[in-house]
Amino acid sequence: MAEKCNSNCSSCGKSCPSREKQSLIKPLNPMSDVKKVIAVVSGKGGVGKSMTCALLAAAAQATGKVTAVMDADITGPSIPKMYGVKERASGSDNGILPVVTESGIQLMSMNVLLENPDEPVVWRGSLISGTVLQFWTDVIWSGVDIMFIDMPPGTGDVPLTVFQSIPIDGIVIVTTPQDLVGMIVNKAVKMAHMMNIPILGLVENMSYIKCPDCGRRISVFGESGVDALALEHGIPAVVKMPIDPELTKAADLGKIEDKADYFTEFLSQITAQLKG
Ligand code: ADP
Repeated sequence: MAEKCNSNCSSCGKSCPSREKQSLIKPLNPMSDVKKVIAVVSGKGGVGKSMTCALLAAAAQATGKVTAVMDADITGPSIPKMYGVKERASGSDNGILPVVTESGIQLMSMNVLLENPDEPVVWRGSLISGTVLQFWTDVIWSGVDIMFIDMPPGTGDVPLTVFQSIPIDGIVIVTTPQDLVGMIVNKAVKMAHMMNIPILGLVENMSYIKCPDCGRRISVFGESGVDALALEHGIPAVVKMPIDPELTKAADLGKIEDKADYFTEFLSQITAQLKG
């Protein structure tokens, strides 16, 4: 990087990592306005990444922020079902219009574009990344205060392209106690560090169950290691989420917005770290 960098590449002709990173960022649709972007990631699938993303967005919308969700999990899109969204996205000459959930969240997902949402998306990685980037460049996102991106799981080609092409302000990592043991989550942490994106928070999902009779917490997958991991990597916000049949039910019924208060506190902890 140039000495005394003022982050304004137009005033400096030097080639440096900062300039290279900026040049890969894709422009938003000219009619869109998105102030902050938080990506929700996980080391592998099935850990509750989409659930976390849907709950965080519901909490943001409930606190009065204009909120959007970009479902970048193209081959496993589950967000529309959790919000009970059935309609298809529509288009105009200027771009694609997102669907709007019951509480007013703007949403784009592969499942609101497909004729038949049960059809599998059997595509190569480059086509998948291209579609995600079109969700950024072609969709008209109106006056969005905060966007949550439900990232594809893992640390492969598609998440890498998304990280390089969309100006992400911070990430939230979702994990389970077993992931921590298997060090899968370490890969997600290292990827964030390599991409120079701040990790705003860590969610340990399926951390415990609460006994319905006595209320005692039972750690079904063993003792939590999430606090130690957060300490090791200087991650400021940590939340432990139980296996909660009420959440499964709400997600299955398309009523996850009824649980908007689930992540109110965690949301304020992670958004407090966003600059500007
Ligand atoms: P991912 O996006 O990581 O693949 P999902 O968020 O789709 O995972 O979650 C997988 C399944 O587990 C879904 O059916 C979801 O409703 C359920 N689920 C996730 N987290 C919880 C939880 N804390 N309690 C109960 N069910 C959960």
